[in-house]
Order: sequence, then C-alpha cells, then structure tokens
Amino acid sequence: MDTSWMYEQVKERMIRYAKIDTQSSRVSEETPTTAKQFDLARELYEELRRIGASEVFLDEAHCVVYGKLPATDASLEGKEHALGFVTHMDTAPDASGENVKPWVLEQYQGGDIVLNEELRIVMEEAVFPQLNNYIGQDLILTDGTTLLGADDKAGIAAVMTAAEYLLLHPEMPHGLVSIAFTPDEEVGGLAKDLDLQRFEAPVAYTVDCDWLGYYSDETFNASDALLTVAGTSVHTGTAKGIMVNAAEIAAEYIAMFPENEKPQTTEGREGFYHLVAVEGDCENARVWHIVRDHDSALFAQREDFIRFCAEELRKKYGAERIALEIRPTYRNMKEVIDTVPFTVTRLEEAFRAAGIEDPVRVAFRGGTDGSALSFRGLPTVNISAGYENAHGRFEFVPVQAMVKNTEVLLHLVAAYKK
Ligand SMILES: [Zn+2]
Repeated sequence: MDTSWMYEQVKERMIRYAKIDTQSSRVSEETPTTAKQFDLARELYEELRRIGASEVFLDEAHCVVYGKLPATDASLEGKEHALGFVTHMDTAPDASGENVKPWVLEQYQGGDIVLNEELRIVMEEAVFPQLNNYIGQDLILTDGTTLLGADDKAGIAAVMTAAEYLLLHPEMPHGLVSIAFTPDEEVGGLAKDLDLQRFEAPVAYTVDCDWLGYYSDETFNASDALLTVAGTSVHTGTAKGIMVNAAEIAAEYIAMFPENEKPQTTEGREGFYHLVAVEGDCENARVWHIVRDHDSALFAQREDFIRFCAEELRKKYGAERIALEIRPTYRNMKEVIDTVPFTVTRLEEAFRAAGIEDPVRVAFRGGTDGSALSFRGLPTVNISAGYENAHGRFEFVPVQAMVKNTEVLLHLVAAYKK
C-alpha cells in the first residue's frame, strides 16, 4: 500500500476539517444541536462526490451524510461481504472549536511543546507523559486556545482516505463499503437519525476514541436515575412537627450510596453510581445519578439498589413525597456483537495485517454511537482513531496514527472478501 500518498491525504484532510467549527451543544433541542455542523456535512458531501463514491446523500433534516462504494464484482455483492464505517462530525462542547489553528510539528524530538509563544501555552511532557510514545512522529497540534477536533475528524480523515484509496485502486476487490458521517455524538446523539435502510451494510465500525491500536466490542449498560422529593416548608419559628425538609432528605439519599462504587474509586470492569447534580431547598429537591455497569446482571442489581433506597425513604417520609424515575440510556453492545463474532476476528486480522501485532481489546467505560446502533440492528464495533487529550486545548493527533488506521480499514475491507 502506498503509505506516502496516505500520509499527504490524511494530513491535508485533518487540517482542513479541523478549521471547520462543528461544536455541538448540550442545551439545544434542535436537530442537529448546532447548525454549523452542516458546514462540515456539506464539505464531506462534496468530497464523497469528488472522489467518486456512489449514492452520495446529505439528509438535510438530520445532518447525516451517506456514501457508498459498491461491490467491485458480482461475486462480492452478498451481504456477508458488506461492511460500513460511521464517524461523527461534531466536536465536544467542553472546549472552544472556533477558529481552530492546526499546525504540524514534524519529527517530534521529545520534551515540552510550545503551543503558543505569545500566550505562553506549553504542553508539558511531565503532565502528558504519553507524548513519549510519539517521538519521531509528526504531530498535528492546536495553538493552545481551542480543541483540535481530531475527535473525531481523525476518524473521518482515515475513512475518507481509505475510501479514496479503494476507488483509485480497482485492482483491490471488495464488497459493499457504506459510509456515514453523523452529528452530535458528543452530546449523546447515539447516531439516532442514521437511516439503516439507506446505510444498507449489515455490520459497521465506528472509528473514534484515542490512542491507536485498540478496539471496543463492549460498553457500559447505562441509565439515569432522578429522585424528586416534595417537602413541606413552614416558618422556622413554628416548624416543630410540621416541617419536612426536602433538601435534607436528598442529602440522606445521597449518603446511602456506597463510597467505593463511584467513578473516582473504580476502573476496568467495575461499575459505579455517579451523582451528576443535586438541587434543593426545604420545599423541593431533585437528585440525578447516572448508573453504569458492563455486566447486565450487576447493572440490574444497581437499578434495584436505587429503587430500594427510594422505597426506604417512602416508608420513612410517606410515599407521596418521594418519586423515582429510572431512564435507560444505552446498553452494553457485547450482547449484540457476540452474535456476529466475525466482526471482531476480522478486525483483529486487519490490525495484524497492518503491523499492529497485539491489538488491545478494551471494555469501554462509556457508551458509543455503536452501543445504540447495535441494539437498533446494526452491530457496530469501535476502532480507536489515534488522537490524544480529546475535548481540550492539548488535543493532538500524530499523522502516522491516521495513516496506520487507514491501512487497518483497508485490511478490514479486504477481510470481508471471504
Ligand atoms: Zn468522539
């Protein structure tokens, strides 16, 4: 494979996409949450047409871009040879995505990196020791005032470059390759508007998340729990025997959760309860938790524990004062991926063919668009995109990581020939 061609392509693409502000919003109720995501959607739509993809389509109502590479010959037209790639266009609301000024540090030699001379913004090796993994590589960086948006524009650059490579190399046979670029991943969009009929491929891969060389076929099970407390507020001078302080009941509820089952005290496959927010006064209080666990049985136990806590408070203060609402967010995709194990074995094969001998399997401590897509009927494993320090001003991506990912995607497409 011509990796020097890939190098120029992924670099040019990453820089061009990074300059387009696509920050999504947690508070907007619009679809997409920010209209500026259309700026990149239109660019990608034009680009898919320019490289010669088929059935290129921009869903103007939902801001989803589609394109396809049809099977190269009749013998590869079957569903068993088809696969798709899904990457998200938005960047996280956590850091500014406006006026991003990407630049390239060639052949990083180790040590601190001055991102912005004028503002004296430095990425220190002591704070970001993973910089040491990239000595000799060419890093695309920010000017220290915005995020880079390699999450997930590095994923888009790899997918687009792999697609163009296949179109330029008709001698590489393949089945259907379907591509979709989606909005609002960073704000829990879960690719909900991806039209599976239009997408057509029966399995897919998201290309997202940090350092190169790992994949996730497993995510958390997730739900939100909202406890509402109705108190009785009266003048403190005459409160005896009458006042019921909702804020105090909220505090009592919060104290019932185990200390060692929180995000800050767990890792790996350990689940948790996380107190997201609390607001309250004597009259009314509300407490939000999120609940996470990879294991579905343990996850169900966690939800039961919350119901138990609410029940205890009902017994103590009266059922009419306590309301609990548990809302499912997403589920562990593993259940679905296990029905199509070839999605993982072929991916491992592709990693090895690209020279990544020991791809790492990570039980992801979060959810992906693939968690939701899997349960909608599109089993979707995640391949890491190769960036670092996402969602902040110190985000960067090595060009070499995007090149390697492009190779992985091409080997993956080839693995579906069998
Ligand atoms: Zn992402």
